[in-house]
Amino acid sequence: MIPVLGMEGARVVVLGLGRTGLAAARALEAGGATALCWDDSPEARAGAKAEGLTLHDLSRREAWEGVTALIVSPGIPHLYPEPNRWVAEALSRGVPVDNDIGLFFRSLGQSAWDRFDVAPRVIAVTGSNGKSTTSALIQHCLEEAGRESQLAGNIGRGVLDIDPPGDGGFVVLELSSYHTELARSLTPDVAVFTNLTPDHLDRHAGMGGYFAAKRRLFSEGGPDRAVIGVDEAEGRFLAGQLTEGAADDRVIRVSSGSKLEGPGWNVFARKGFLSETRKGRQAGSIDLREIAGLPGAHNHQNAAAAYAALRAVGLAPRVIEAGFQTFEGLPHRSQLVGARDGVRFVNDSKATNVDSAAKALAAFPKVRWIVGGQVKDGGLGALHGALGSVVKAYVIGRRAREIALELGDLDHAVCETMEKAVRAAAAEAQPGETVLLAPAAASFDQYDDFEARGDDFVRVAREILA
Ligand code: ADP
Repeated sequence: MIPVLGMEGARVVVLGLGRTGLAAARALEAGGATALCWDDSPEARAGAKAEGLTLHDLSRREAWEGVTALIVSPGIPHLYPEPNRWVAEALSRGVPVDNDIGLFFRSLGQSAWDRFDVAPRVIAVTGSNGKSTTSALIQHCLEEAGRESQLAGNIGRGVLDIDPPGDGGFVVLELSSYHTELARSLTPDVAVFTNLTPDHLDRHAGMGGYFAAKRRLFSEGGPDRAVIGVDEAEGRFLAGQLTEGAADDRVIRVSSGSKLEGPGWNVFARKGFLSETRKGRQAGSIDLREIAGLPGAHNHQNAAAAYAALRAVGLAPRVIEAGFQTFEGLPHRSQLVGARDGVRFVNDSKATNVDSAAKALAAFPKVRWIVGGQVKDGGLGALHGALGSVVKAYVIGRRAREIALELGDLDHAVCETMEKAVRAAAAEAQPGETVLLAPAAASFDQYDDFEARGDDFVRVAREILA
């Protein structure tokens, strides 16, 4: 645990008692503050009480007396689509609003670091897609290089739950816009912005609010070195704002698909090759085509971002390449389950919308596509241009028949269950083809979550591969 520093004796309200809120409350108490806990849900309150935490009814008139700060969980919309009543109340009383990430950055070490030869460093990753993959890849490469590192935030442990980092250690943080929009302190050593596509727009009141939330990672204290994906206008804008001139190498520009030729520090992935240039010279290159854990242009973008972050903390290109070779991918994101007779089985259950499904489909040349579930607004229409690699679709879900109608001329079978779909696809697959779960839909019509759906795919695939 990282005890919260600088709040000894303070009364701090913790709003939201899920994983993040409970960890924040424990860390506050460990640092000598009093955590006053509240959640509108009675079950969440009961869970906190069972842990011995102090409940604090915010509706009482005297509830805010002497309160120093309000700590809000990322699951609570604080401003849009409507202001949260407790956040509004805190603000009207002049109580600062913060979150666990802000507490983490203000509490991380320093005094305890006097005895270290190399101060620990924090690498923070944000963006619309690829955050988990990029963060996990960075952490994997650090570990393979023999460096101590911990993964936290949206993935791995809660930030305040990690162990205090040791001499020369690393903390790799995956941060969503929900984290970055509220944290009052954001001071990573290296910050990564992977890409930006529309997401969570109601929570941020549109694309401008969403971008503004993410770009705070580069302004509230700011990183020493910024790794910025420049394939969208927002990334190019941000990179421009953070540099003094084209040759300023505090920013490492990253692209998937475009050759970057500026005189600064660039990393780009193109046609399966990663290149690094600095001051106009080639500094490193990696052939990504045979790296099994990172298939497709979207993963090459993640690889380029991770590479840049690792170069920024001093790893050599060949050490990074060795790490890439042994990266197995994350479960449910282009996860290679196995292969037999030239047929691969790949689980991308996390492809819950058309955009991520299109990326997964583009990563493999010939696909037996398992698709369907609870399709989001707008249907599958936007996928029509992305079906070039699909040999045949195997449709699952309660509404499989209706979904199949959306596939037009594409060869397909209505399977409804995962069991039927995977077995039918495997029976028909030819060498060189990939049986791919990329549902382009949420899982809730048949499963508790995308993980349970992916696990079901993996189970059937493993039976076939056995
Ligand atoms: P995040 O943590 O940002 O949600 P993940 O690494 O968990 O990202 O990937 C989520 C989904 O998006 C997966 O279906 C994955 O295949 C796809 N994906 C991964 N990286 C990218 C990328 N760079 N661009 C677009 N889609 C991606």
